[in-house]
Amino acid sequence: MALDGYRHAIFPTYSPPKIKFVEGRGAWLRAADGREYLDFIAGIAVNALGHCHPKLVEALNEQASKLWHLSNMFDVPGQEELAEIYCKHTFADAVFFTNSGAEAVECALKSARRYHYANGAPERVDIIGFEGAFHGRTYATINAAGNPKYVEGFGPRLPAYKQCKFGDLEALAAMMGPETAAVIIEPVQGEGGLRALPVEMLTAMRKLCTERGALLIYDEVQCGAGRTGKLFAHQWADNAEPDIMALAKGIGGGFPLGMCLATRAVSQTMVVGTHGTTYGGNALAVAVGRAVINEMLAPGFMDRVNAAAGKLREGLEQIASQQPDKVIEVRGKGLLTGIRVKVPNTAVRDAARDRGLLVGVAGADVVRMAPPLIVSDKEIAHALDTLNEAVAATDLPPAKA
Ligand SMILES: *Cc1c(COP(=O)(O)O)cnc(C)c1O
Repeated sequence: MALDGYRHAIFPTYSPPKIKFVEGRGAWLRAADGREYLDFIAGIAVNALGHCHPKLVEALNEQASKLWHLSNMFDVPGQEELAEIYCKHTFADAVFFTNSGAEAVECALKSARRYHYANGAPERVDIIGFEGAFHGRTYATINAAGNPKYVEGFGPRLPAYKQCKFGDLEALAAMMGPETAAVIIEPVQGEGGLRALPVEMLTAMRKLCTERGALLIYDEVQCGAGRTGKLFAHQWADNAEPDIMALAKGIGGGFPLGMCLATRAVSQTMVVGTHGTTYGGNALAVAVGRAVINEMLAPGFMDRVNAAAGKLREGLEQIASQQPDKVIEVRGKGLLTGIRVKVPNTAVRDAARDRGLLVGVAGADVVRMAPPLIVSDKEIAHALDTLNEAVAATDLPPAKA
């Protein structure tokens, strides 16, 4: 199709650059014109093991020649084994499989309300979220996050969703009452600007929720799956386990897979008929999901993530100190990191792409990096050099008169 017909048959919800990627290997993508790009956004923290990891390709191919889909009318092969692995390595006792992050959050929100309903407190329906949060694009999840940009034009706000100031424990305590069902938070905000909540806050929040009879929901769709150097970001904190946790993105390594994890007290209230999905946890997704978690649980894997994260952070700090007129600070945690800039973040992203490095943006002023967890020191060094050049090449906006 001619260039002026670029993506005419697709909703204009996205505006990708005119690059045709045709192949991916590890941290690298190749375009149709033969140009290679270093991928430091990894499908937005999804390709956790890079592109076409041999173990994932093998798992997918093997399952693809056996059985693809049954629906959850039948016992899907591999689901129970995968669920058991996640339960063993987290607070959870049971898992609900989904295809996406938003669906995992939906399940979390429904489960929270259902828990109170089943325990004789149907009035507990309020969901408290935080400013700057992102929980997905369904009606419930845009209301839970409350970002005005994402709710505008979609009719009245759903009732019983409230927003608290980010990291303000006192405000949260004041907001909670006898109608509070749950508090939902990303231990490290992704889209909102890579803001990591101090671990003590998570501990305090856990305590507060327990005292007030509310459930604590973590959205680790982006910051989970090894991204911060632990399997889950909240595991950096002591005594901060949630009642419910939503996962997706990295746990499928590029295959659509989400999960809602919960304690038995919660999961047992989601009885037959209360919830469901056709595709969620189908045989292909589960096969890939198992290969992903097996790799992440291999001895030394997280040590390597932490070493890589240290290198990346150090390099970003250097860029920040070399270009203080343009870089405000380093943000994020582990391999979900980036820089907060005074220059337009989208311009830095584009300048990096022109130089063969793919990064993302987050919030109004953050350049986001989420390289695959298997990234090498050499690739990190290359990315840092390129980002440094991209920042240097981006002009500050004209000073306001
Ligand atoms: C991406 C994301 C979601 C939504 O996931 P989808 O798979 O796009 O539905 C939810 N929460 C967080 C924190 C995310 O980063």
